[in-house]
Amino acid sequence: MPTFSTLTFEEHVVIWAAVDLPTLLVLRSCSHNALTVVGEVLRASVSLLCRQFLDDTAAFLQELSHCRGVIGGQVAVRFMLRDLPFVPESLEVYVPPDVHLEMQRHLLDTHHMTLLVSFDSPENADEAWLADHALHYTDVLRTQQGRTIILHRCSEAEPLAAVACAPTSAEVTYVSPEGFGTAYPALLFQHRALVADWAHDDRNIGALLDWRRRRGIDLRMAARVWPEYRGMYCAAAKWVCHTQPRTFTDGGALAVRFSPLQGPREESTVMWRLDGRPCGGSCLHVEDAHGQKLYKYTILVEDGEEYRWSYQHRFVL
Ligand SMILES: [Zn+2]
Repeated sequence: MPTFSTLTFEEHVVIWAAVDLPTLLVLRSCSHNALTVVGEVLRASVSLLCRQFLDDTAAFLQELSHCRGVIGGQVAVRFMLRDLPFVPESLEVYVPPDVHLEMQRHLLDTHHMTLLVSFDSPENADEAWLADHALHYTDVLRTQQGRTIILHRCSEAEPLAAVACAPTSAEVTYVSPEGFGTAYPALLFQHRALVADWAHDDRNIGALLDWRRRRGIDLRMAARVWPEYRGMYCAAAKWVCHTQPRTFTDGGALAVRFSPLQGPREESTVMWRLDGRPCGGSCLHVEDAHGQKLYKYTILVEDGEEYRWSYQHRFVL
């Protein structure tokens, strides 16, 4: 009679295909064997999602790892919400500025894509908007099968700065060949999301509402509309306040490596807040090392033997 440890990998993939991610994460903590199996199942899940856009996913993921890039957007959300299947419309890739051309060449040469929108296209003319979202510019590529790849040249060495500037909390989510994470798991796994700043994203409001309707995500302006948070003017204690400064490795974030036993975890250097809408608590008055308090995101960098918040971007009010 087959047991958990004697099943083939293909059998594991079939069995776990319909299991949601929180359950898989509980399972992987049960034993070394479960850790290995779940890690491989999740890696296969990343590869399957990418295969909707690329044939040679192994080459793509190897290049993505080499470039220290991450996958964000709809594919990352779809990876997290295994129990809410939808077909992503595009594959969004975020890479540091120094390797952007290398990744672009890889997509054009190895995967024979066509470049539809490049850095000097009208779509990239809004430099203020791009800077506010930690981006230099965005390439749009089309595969031979007609699928869309969006390649973001980030303005920061850590691509997660751009992921943090997503239009909703659900998309503050990433997947890479090494692992995955999301900043608002308590909301995302309940199929909920908070709206980020609208002041600079007005052109996206229609798309945001459509995103909610078609994906089954309950999109709101503040957490207090949901029963668990009712009566809480500020939900920072639950890590779901829209004004609260956050990082990808704080106590409210989910950060998972496929192989957690191989070396120490890298800390993220990105801090952000979803929006500057007052929450009713004191989050808006949290100051950084420079006494500034209304920035969208900031990067922690090494300065000699000290660390300091050296780069701030965008007033959100
Ligand atoms: Zn708050």
